[in-house]
Amino acid sequence: MISIERALEVTLATAEQTAAPDRMPVQTIPLEATLGRILREEIRADADYPRFDKAIRDGFAVRFEDVSTVPAVLDVRGESRAGQAADVTVTSGTCCEIMTGAPLPDGANAVVMVEHTEAVPPKAVRILRSVREGEGLLRRGAELRTGETVLTVGKRIELADIGTLASFGKFEVRVSQKPRVAILATGDELVEVRHKPEGGQIRNSNSYTLMGQVLAAGAEPVLLGIGRDNVEDLRRLIGEGLKCDLLLVSGGVSMGKYDFVEDVFAEYGVAVLFDSVAMKPGKPTVFGTRNDTFVFGLPGNPVSTIVAFRMFVTPVIQSLLKATDRTPGTLRACLEEPARRDASRTAIVPALVHFEGQSYRIRTAPWKGSSDLAGLSRANALVVIPQGDGVLQPGDWVDFLSLEKL
Ligand code: AMP
Ligand code: MG
Repeated sequence: MISIERALEVTLATAEQTAAPDRMPVQTIPLEATLGRILREEIRADADYPRFDKAIRDGFAVRFEDVSTVPAVLDVRGESRAGQAADVTVTSGTCCEIMTGAPLPDGANAVVMVEHTEAVPPKAVRILRSVREGEGLLRRGAELRTGETVLTVGKRIELADIGTLASFGKFEVRVSQKPRVAILATGDELVEVRHKPEGGQIRNSNSYTLMGQVLAAGAEPVLLGIGRDNVEDLRRLIGEGLKCDLLLVSGGVSMGKYDFVEDVFAEYGVAVLFDSVAMKPGKPTVFGTRNDTFVFGLPGNPVSTIVAFRMFVTPVIQSLLKATDRTPGTLRACLEEPARRDASRTAIVPALVHFEGQSYRIRTAPWKGSSDLAGLSRANALVVIPQGDGVLQPGDWVDFLSLEKL
């Protein structure tokens, strides 16, 4: 049995060493499809941003010197609208009507908000407040200079990034191709979702949680359905799954009489790097490689499957994608209630976290163990209770994983 930290080191190092430099080639895709993908080109500003001195208020473009004492009455010369500059120069005693996003006319050096003015018919305006030089406007290049790097190789394309790409004219973007991830649920007791379980049967839920996690990690799921607890069935389906970049098998990796998954891995020559992690739930997590394929045997209990994926599979996928950020991404929170530690394993359990005052505050959520998916549904985080003796106390700091990020 190895520690979580060691298991994570092993998975990341293996992913890096095993994956050839050209693994997950670059592909060019339309901008519309880039959200959540990993960028494989550096993105530099194609121009200064903003491209011209622009108003950030609706009002009047003025010379700030003219309004140092107020009220001040100025003649209004022309209008500068978004998309259409005014063909005027603002000189002493004059101003120009201007809208948000419109180019600042020559001669002006500040914008007074319309709320701080009064019309003086027919063609003048009374300015009621002074402004500093540069107030109410953004100078050309204030946000970005031409050629400045904005997005680096390996960045996951998030909401703001897709907007940045759009504003730089990147209608096509170079990203990592998605790894294909085979998903195989195993168990004689499993029935498909549309079937009503009878006797000792249960519905297969792991295929769907794993599919969700694979999609969220930016990879492509390949559903292999349900494999039964016999060597022939597993041989056939695992053989199929080994053609993908990753193979995830859920169930059949514990000590049970019918847990054959590891035997079949051995038949195929999977080099197993670990098969037991000091983690609760998720102890019987198996990780290995076979040629170019990364292989995981995940514990069958639904919450264990989710936790093991989050801890070890996501980092391998991110590594294959050449993402800069590869770790499971824990945050810190302050415990609100006591939490008992486990002497032999680190617990990663459903929890309720909220932000209060200056920090996250967290407590374990009620749940009935590693099959209790409903308990996990009621939680919004997984809290990490480090292996050890005794009880963590309110006020102690702990790591947690948000469940919003799968
Ligand atoms: P195993 O790891 O095969 O011993 O399975 C552990 C527990 O997880 C058993 O109670 C199984 O019935 C349950 N289980 C295994 N696979 C699935 C699945 N695909 N969906 C839901 N529960 C499962
Ligand atoms: Mg089983």
